[in-house]
Amino acid sequence: MAYSYDDQNIFAKILRDEIPNDTVYETDHSLAFKDITPQAPHHVLVIPKGKYVCFDHFANTASDAEIVDYIRAIGEVCKMLGIPPGDGGNGYRLLSNAGQDGVQEVPHLHVHIVAGRGLGRMLNPAAS
Ligand code: 5GP
Repeated sequence: MAYSYDDQNIFAKILRDEIPNDTVYETDHSLAFKDITPQAPHHVLVIPKGKYVCFDHFANTASDAEIVDYIRAIGEVCKMLGIPPGDGGNGYRLLSNAGQDGVQEVPHLHVHIVAGRGLGRMLNPAAS
């Protein structure tokens, strides 16, 4: 089944400037802004400006220009936050939830960049 994009999702409204956001970085194809409910000292969401529901939708249908722009934007935000281990930072985690089992709340692709504290194990074994 093909993905169907909901134009009323909250990130679509952010992209249309219908609701405010705390932008940290913007390019032609991508927008990065602070999560409204941060889970760590650094918690930034990076979204493509195109209408993509989740990561595989984007990876399989976006243009090369959009994909390069998006991946570079994530790298740029990491640099801005001073978190890359290669630059002396303490590291970070990237997360992108998709669908029901991924517990995706907002149906517009977003990668969470979380950093600024020890983040523990990747998944909670008790929940498996
Ligand atoms: P998901 O569960 O879909 O991976 O994550 C959605 C994220 O969007 C959550 O971390 C939530 O805090 C964030 N969020 C939801 N609504 C808003 C909003 O209006 N503004 C911002 N900046 N973040 C939001």
